Amino acid sequence: STFQSLGLDENLLQAITDLGFETPSEVQQKTIPILLNEETDMVSLAQTGTGKTAAFGFPMLQKINAESRTTQGLILSPTRELCMQITNEMEAYGKYIKGLNVVAIYGGASIQDQAKQIKKGAQIIVATPGRMKDMIGRRMIDISKIEYCVLDEADEMLNMGFYEDITEILSHSPKDKSTWLFSATMPKEVATIAKKFMHTPVEITV
Ligand code: AMP
Repeated sequence: STFQSLGLDENLLQAITDLGFETPSEVQQKTIPILLNEETDMVSLAQTGTGKTAAFGFPMLQKINAESRTTQGLILSPTRELCMQITNEMEAYGKYIKGLNVVAIYGGASIQDQAKQIKKGAQIIVATPGRMKDMIGRRMIDISKIEYCVLDEADEMLNMGFYEDITEILSHSPKDKSTWLFSATMPKEVATIAKKFMHTPVEITV
């Protein structure tokens, strides 16, 4: 299969060409058509290095409206490094989307600087749970209008003790959003959050 046949827009295809990606990876082939065409929740069992960032990133970039400055997509990830890496990838994938603003939110850096970036209008926020919860609590971030939420490396986030923070964050988000959960393993804690936060998710394994 090709990236064209998955239904991606020209601006994403151009960025994909620039990056030198030739064929969609297995997880991308499985998730992209579904996430582009259905407003559904999804649980995907996929390891790092399988191209999972693009598997959720391409559909999110295609579905958001970059002409609006409202925050429409949230990606939660366990560590600051991963958060910065996902942000860089999303910026590279979205480089031909005019007006796109992806902002990284993580601990150990100035909260004021991050709040300033958010104020400019971020359609997509990539965040670690602790700092995100903090900034929502301080009314620096509003996620009441998000349509897409990714829980990346869900098993790692739970291992690191972020269950309460994730629950608190998601309580500020709309009930009718789509939630896409990615995890390398499926311990019962992950199955529990999938059950708590998702409605009949499509299940993908690679
Ligand atoms: P990830 O699993 O998302 O961390 O991706 C692993 C690496 O593979 C990243 O450096 C991506 O830029 C790269 N990548 C993702 N999708 C593809 C693809 N279809 N073809 C080639 N490289 C890819």
